Amino acid sequence: MQQRRPGFPARITPPAPGGPRPPILSVAVQRPGGIPAPAGLGLDSAAVRSRMVQRLAAGGVGSSAVLAAMGAVERHRFVDSALVIQAYEDTSLPIGLGQTISKPSIVARMMELLLGADIAHSTGGLGRVLEVGTGCGYQAAVLARLAREVYSIERLRGLHEKARANLRHLRLANVHLILGDGMEGYAKGAPYAGIVAAAGGAQLPQAWCEQLAVGGRLVAPTALADGQQVLLVVDKTAHGLKQTVLEPVHFVPLKSGVS
Ligand code: SAH
Repeated sequence: MQQRRPGFPARITPPAPGGPRPPILSVAVQRPGGIPAPAGLGLDSAAVRSRMVQRLAAGGVGSSAVLAAMGAVERHRFVDSALVIQAYEDTSLPIGLGQTISKPSIVARMMELLLGADIAHSTGGLGRVLEVGTGCGYQAAVLARLAREVYSIERLRGLHEKARANLRHLRLANVHLILGDGMEGYAKGAPYAGIVAAAGGAQLPQAWCEQLAVGGRLVAPTALADGQQVLLVVDKTAHGLKQTVLEPVHFVPLKSGVS
């Protein structure tokens, strides 16, 4: 039998003086002993998510498509029940096997950068996209709303299966989950309009640049010579690769092999 994922839990926070009133809860909360708490005691996840989206917009995310995708995907369904309360805070969270789900602002930032690919402008949207590091599947669900086809590869079997379970109820026909070493890219889906990596290495694997379409864009954390990890954007043009170094970031390491 499929286990029911927890709903968004109750949290009663005093309203900030002069600030907005907390939303009325509409989710019935299961108390220990199985007695449901009366409705009206938990936070409505749509309201909390829409506040997260407002914060993302205030923080500089300008793409309405990205904001809509971030507002639609229920991040709390991708984290363990003990962490559900933090699901809409701008923080990274553990997802098991020593890995983390990126904070919403970095997911939104990377999605917005991907949408900036030349090919997305010329064809009116993103076609095929490769995500390296499926993790719990959250970002793949966001990508599914922004790209025509999503190939998402994960090297840890435990997380690949977790993502599959997390995404099952969404029935996303355009998301393909692959267990494999993403350092080799995924040639079967190439060429990609976009490649996004959720783990960072010392240099960009050559396969990623090869599997990028002309007009496509790669967004990945990479270490500079001094060891600092930064967000790197690589645009593939008819004349070659154009690299742009952006802000410092903190991603889990890119590793080779499957385990
Ligand atoms: N996008 C994910 C974030 C996962 S964290 C989410 O929304 O949850 C980064 C993931 O990259 C980890 O699960 C890690 O196992 C994976 N990873 C690291 N190196 C990899 C590789 N070579 N191929 C595929 N996945 C890799």
